[in-house]
Amino acid sequence: MSVNQQAHTGPPYGQPQPGYQGYQQPAYGGQSLPGVPRSQYGAYNGPMPEYQQPVPPQGYFPSLGFPSKGSPVSLNSDSSSLAPNFIGSLRAPPTSGAPPPVSGASHPSGHLAYSQFDHGDVQNGIPASAAPMQRPPASQPFLPGSGSTPVSQPSAFQQYGPPPASVQQLSNHMAGMTIGTATASAPPPAGLGYGPPTSVPPVSGSFSPPGSGLYTPYSATQGPPPTSVPQGLPVAQPPFPGQTVSTQRLPTQVPGFAPPPPSTGVGPSSYPPTTGAPRPPAMPGPPLPGQTLAGPPSSQPNHVTSPPPPSAMAGLHPGPPMSGLHGPPPPTHPPQPGYQMQQNGSFGQMRGPQPNYGGAYPGTPNYGSPPGPPPPPKRLDPDSIPSPIQVIEDDRSNRGSEPFVTGARGQVPPLVTTNFLVKDQGNASPRYIRCTSYNIPCTSDMAKQSQVPLAAVIKPLATLPPEETLPYLVDHGESGPVRCNRCKAYMCPFMQFIEGGRRFQCCFCSCVTEVPPHYFQHLDHTGKRVDFYDRPELSLGSYEFLATVDYCKNNKFPSPPAFIFMIDVSYNAVKSGLVRLICEELKSLLDYLPREGNMEESAIRVGFVTYNKVLHFYNVKSSLAQPQMMVVSDVADMFVPLLDGFLVNVNESRTVITSLLDQIPEMFADTRETETVFAPVIQAGLEALKAAECAGKLFIFHTSLPIAEAPGKLKNRDDRKLINTDKEKTLFQPQTSFYNNLAKDCVAQGCCVDLFLFPNQYLDVATLGVVPYQTGGSIYKYAYFQLETDQDRFLNDLRRDVQKEVGFDAVMRVRTSTGIRATDFFGAFYMSNTTDVEMAGLDCDKTITVEFKHDDKLSEDSGALLQCALLYTSCAGQRRLRIHNLSLNCCTQLADLYRNCETDTLINYLAKYAYRGVLNSPVKTVRDALINQCAQILACYRKNCASPSSAGQLILPECMKLLPVYLNCVLKSDVLQPGPEVTTDDRAYIRQLVTSMDVAETNVFFYPRLLPLTKADVDSDSLPAAIRNSEERLSKGDIYLLENGLNIFVWVGVSVQQGLIQNLFGVSSFGQISNTLSALPVLENPFSKKVRSIVDMLQGQRSRYMKLIIVKQEDKLEMLFKHFLVEDKSLSGGASYVDFLCHMHKEIRQLLS
Ligand SMILES: [Zn+2]
Repeated sequence: MSVNQQAHTGPPYGQPQPGYQGYQQPAYGGQSLPGVPRSQYGAYNGPMPEYQQPVPPQGYFPSLGFPSKGSPVSLNSDSSSLAPNFIGSLRAPPTSGAPPPVSGASHPSGHLAYSQFDHGDVQNGIPASAAPMQRPPASQPFLPGSGSTPVSQPSAFQQYGPPPASVQQLSNHMAGMTIGTATASAPPPAGLGYGPPTSVPPVSGSFSPPGSGLYTPYSATQGPPPTSVPQGLPVAQPPFPGQTVSTQRLPTQVPGFAPPPPSTGVGPSSYPPTTGAPRPPAMPGPPLPGQTLAGPPSSQPNHVTSPPPPSAMAGLHPGPPMSGLHGPPPPTHPPQPGYQMQQNGSFGQMRGPQPNYGGAYPGTPNYGSPPGPPPPPKRLDPDSIPSPIQVIEDDRSNRGSEPFVTGARGQVPPLVTTNFLVKDQGNASPRYIRCTSYNIPCTSDMAKQSQVPLAAVIKPLATLPPEETLPYLVDHGESGPVRCNRCKAYMCPFMQFIEGGRRFQCCFCSCVTEVPPHYFQHLDHTGKRVDFYDRPELSLGSYEFLATVDYCKNNKFPSPPAFIFMIDVSYNAVKSGLVRLICEELKSLLDYLPREGNMEESAIRVGFVTYNKVLHFYNVKSSLAQPQMMVVSDVADMFVPLLDGFLVNVNESRTVITSLLDQIPEMFADTRETETVFAPVIQAGLEALKAAECAGKLFIFHTSLPIAEAPGKLKNRDDRKLINTDKEKTLFQPQTSFYNNLAKDCVAQGCCVDLFLFPNQYLDVATLGVVPYQTGGSIYKYAYFQLETDQDRFLNDLRRDVQKEVGFDAVMRVRTSTGIRATDFFGAFYMSNTTDVEMAGLDCDKTITVEFKHDDKLSEDSGALLQCALLYTSCAGQRRLRIHNLSLNCCTQLADLYRNCETDTLINYLAKYAYRGVLNSPVKTVRDALINQCAQILACYRKNCASPSSAGQLILPECMKLLPVYLNCVLKSDVLQPGPEVTTDDRAYIRQLVTSMDVAETNVFFYPRLLPLTKADVDSDSLPAAIRNSEERLSKGDIYLLENGLNIFVWVGVSVQQGLIQNLFGVSSFGQISNTLSALPVLENPFSKKVRSIVDMLQGQRSRYMKLIIVKQEDKLEMLFKHFLVEDKSLSGGASYVDFLCHMHKEIRQLLS
């Protein structure tokens, strides 16, 4: 490549940016001003139809949204045409010489710039008594403000009415359900007198508070181990004959491992609860109605040979009988009104030590050792223990048909696996916020006693289905949003107007604030403002405010953001075809940059950089005939050699950009350069954004460990020998603090970094990921990238990543009502103080998990309130505040807490907590702490809420009956228990990925979805019913699909009919199926179409394009597949679900004894 030494002649920075100069804050009020970009969030008072329009850019259809790539593109192979314009080794003027001061640089934290966010200026004034009376409230439809033409209402508001006066849990009964014994043995619902003890004795003070230090081994604080086990006569959990099992929120008993219960109504007599009494060893119980009996293996089309037949399992148990199904019939238990803590000491016998479990789980070295020795005996019929599939199915059938209306306080939403619509009637949709519990203990003591973490998983910019209404944008003009004088909370449905509407009392801090004159409105006889339904901020859980200039950095409205594409052009990147692929893709992808509303083109400007050991900047100014390249070889002090012409409008510079993208692959086609830099690349992007005084995103495509001499240079420090040592944590920590400092600078500028990695070997994701992670960006990793097999996945990820909704320069604060406060945060962000979560960029897929702690007592009357306020810059450069409000119930009875928990959210929190813990603590400590916390949660329930019964019975709260199985999946995950095939980079990657996941993503990630494809109905749109993740559930005559959000496996049994193989793979026999396929062949038959449509549908549901892997039974790859059969024992030593449940039971009994 020839490089010229020629000074660039572009005008100095500081010239007006065409089209962006003088960007004006639109007066949002319904009529968009000429020249002002219209928001996709229609104006609140505008015509309704606009609000309901599905926004095209939001629906991402991987294969549809792009122009056909069929047309051949002729590359300009004459690289010499660029030569005259090349500038080599140009040392540009120092940045200090650049005309405008670099804004943002002086705000290292970014915090200062947001002073208004913290100290909003609330105008206090005397309300105008002559304020015009607006329409009467109550029965008025949600109409535009006065003067607007009424239009058809969005369906969500058709029946909008005041929330019920008394907000109570209506649907949550609490009753006992005996797992393995009578499923029908449900204690009467709460309303019938069943209740927790009125006085809840403290649990002997032995529970350490959840936050009392990271990963303090809980065992130290526990009571003495149950060396001597009280041998009281076991009391069996009484069934309540005649009751049908409500599938919702019933406590679940897993009695001494009797068969299951579940939600199918099983008569009590079928499953006498087990007690400690000996029982027949074999599997006697009649099959459960509606349940598949994991019956004798002979009849099971199970290809698996290792697990012993169920009938043998029970007998194998060396210890005291665990799996017997026929205990003495349980005494009938009366309802529980006055149930006291008499269990103490009366727990049934401690069962004998469990084989392989020793006391030292999970540290026992031999535990879980792979194959070799005979499989450990199982003590439980897998069908008898709580089934994730059953719980998911039950929730779907019970809650999938009705919309979830958010009017009432403390309602537990349907599960994330259930499809449902949401109607916002005053609380934020669960798509935005999900909580671990919707009923918070009134006191900190209660919270500590239960050990249930109080956390909210918040996804502020979540994508909504087209049927739901996007948050309305409210414009209060120059005065900005109305806020509480003291705590600065934003106006919301929970604020209480008093004194005829002249003041309002803050629902968060109780401070009374004058209503600004322009905001005054009269109250009706119920004390509600008469404009209640006209104002989103008074009647809805989620809405947006247009921010005033006071909410902007340096008191200046922001410029539209910029995207900078930074492409590694070192040897590996060129050789693999990656560089050419990226350039080709960008040519069309640049037409799909995020736009707002009806804007014809995106306001986002773009820039291009390529790099190896040096950086190449490109001038793509529209007036140029050819792009110009400028090389910066002094990477020690990065600067941007050109200002004008670097960030451009795509349409204006299209010809030049296309020419550049044609030429880049040719220019570097013969490169021999194998070394790369990395930190200077980020610095270059950061400097470019600083110079342009805008926020933006860097898309970096990188292939190798940056070993070239430069700041942020890294060394290969991978060392698998550190696994399971005290130094293992170093594998997750960055090897230099350089990147942390760089991240801080990036956040201050609003420079978000998305990183696409294509490694052929270790490249230290833990370090390279620091900046993406702390700036709210994403990391994508394609190990051993091969064009043929990986390009679809990469391109789909890239397309979605470029197009998705993203806010820039974001600051999020969560305010809470008196009594609790946000104390801890998990996610991809940066914090310069203890309250504000800062993100250079926040996209629609990112979540922030927030933990709350008590700082005072809560009251059942007032409940607890959360308000999440996100200040951000839209993709058109508009400064906005998005507000989400949520009200929760508070309880004085632990049973209420356990009835209103959400296990999926709990697991999301626990996984993030654990994944952060590995940065500072040995992995084993983290695992032990997790197990212990969950055991305490369940023990507290057992002790305080469940009916007295034998200790031989494991009793789980209905809402948490999946806690053990899901917890086990977290414990077995690659981060906490890596198998031999998992690399250090994989672990660091997964760790960061999970930290930003929402609840649906963690759910399927930890417990993958397994679908029997051969059971699919080719004539319907529905999916085949999922099955549990165990090898025992697979039949060698069938084909299955397993997805976890990152991968899709298609598993083919050895005995699958030849016709099916032909239909799906287009080959005539099992042996001919290629396991290197990265996609299913497109064949014109119903089965092929059905399977491909399922795959497409799943791909569309996930935020990343999943890699498709074909696995043939008994093939090598099957090991990889089996790793995801999470109910089974894993090769890396992870316990099977059955074993883990036994272990949890033991832990719980220890806590209770
Ligand atoms: Zn307040």
